[in-house]
Amino acid sequence: MRMKAAVLYEPRKPLVVEEVELDPPRAGEALVKMVATGVCHSDIHYYTGDQKRQLPVVLGHEGAGIVEKVGEGVTTVKPGDHVVLTFLPSCGKCHWCHTGQPNMCDLGAKLRAGFMIDGTTRMHRAKDGLDLHHFLFVSTYAQYSIVPEASMVVVPDWLPLERLCLFGCGFTTGFGAATNAAHIRPGETVTIVGCGGLGLAAVQGAKLSGAGKIIAVDVHEEKLTLARKFGATHTIVNRHNVDEVFKEIQEITWGVGTDYSMEFVGFDQSDETLDIAFRAIRKGGTMLMVGVGALSKKTLPISPADLTHWRKRIHGVLFGDAQFRTDIPRYVDMYHKGQINLDDMVTQEMRLEDINTAFENVLAGNKVARQVIRF
Ligand SMILES: [Zn+2]
Ligand SMILES: [Zn+2]
Repeated sequence: MRMKAAVLYEPRKPLVVEEVELDPPRAGEALVKMVATGVCHSDIHYYTGDQKRQLPVVLGHEGAGIVEKVGEGVTTVKPGDHVVLTFLPSCGKCHWCHTGQPNMCDLGAKLRAGFMIDGTTRMHRAKDGLDLHHFLFVSTYAQYSIVPEASMVVVPDWLPLERLCLFGCGFTTGFGAATNAAHIRPGETVTIVGCGGLGLAAVQGAKLSGAGKIIAVDVHEEKLTLARKFGATHTIVNRHNVDEVFKEIQEITWGVGTDYSMEFVGFDQSDETLDIAFRAIRKGGTMLMVGVGALSKKTLPISPADLTHWRKRIHGVLFGDAQFRTDIPRYVDMYHKGQINLDDMVTQEMRLEDINTAFENVLAGNKVARQVIRF
């Protein structure tokens, strides 16, 4: 079938929205009509070329849509189902899926190749048949996508997919970091470094967990205003002076530091933001690394002696350490009840044709929490 998709041919060159031929779903796959997709910062790594990816590729990994057709052997979704697409698959069969770590599923090893699970593509440029690469099995910057059954979660059909799509990556990652990985208990304190879509979701998670102090740190005042709206009790503008930020955190916590810190900076992750997150925590505190920085970075600006002397812990968190097949329906329910606020997370809605503007807005840093493309 023919559809439109946004294709990245070269880093830093505008994406081309054009006609693409899509093959029918094969065994274990479904054809999904995309309804909405968030524009997550992780795509930008490939756009800028800071992370390499097989090109040309259809990016996008925070989508939601409606199943139109299923391939052979598909049993967990059927035509008409509303689904949130997850940027990580979960096969339900491997060691990791069976030990409650679906974010570590062995299928994840196949994501990097840029194809479907069987190592082939379903997308070809319409004008000449040129093969296009998939992105994280979901390629959501397209009107339709072929997606493995392992990468989708069925959600109720009466809630807006242009909000639920955020559960496919950013919201679940941030909210899960606070509630699954940190397990924040009532009254505990947390520093959140970086208040984009993920950081703001973490603020919501910390608030719902009953955190006593939620200290939000960002370079942009606009994002701190949003953080306060979602429940941050204190905000600190990072003027690129780590000592100054550290001093403020010490004052807010009576010289103790926070129980947890979470680093969400991702694209602009630097020694500075990591240093803030490490110094923010108290003796025996836990720093969670959630944002994905440049793959080329090999060092942490952390004194091993401080790590030992202060008995600190550093913990990597992937996709909010979520049990996403059960957590996403739970979050959907919380959104329905008004406990989770997705509506204010979406600061702008756009069309697929606006994808390049959306990317520029992300790169500008201060313009948006989350942009959502509606099809
Ligand atoms: Zn993402
Ligand atoms: Zn698995």
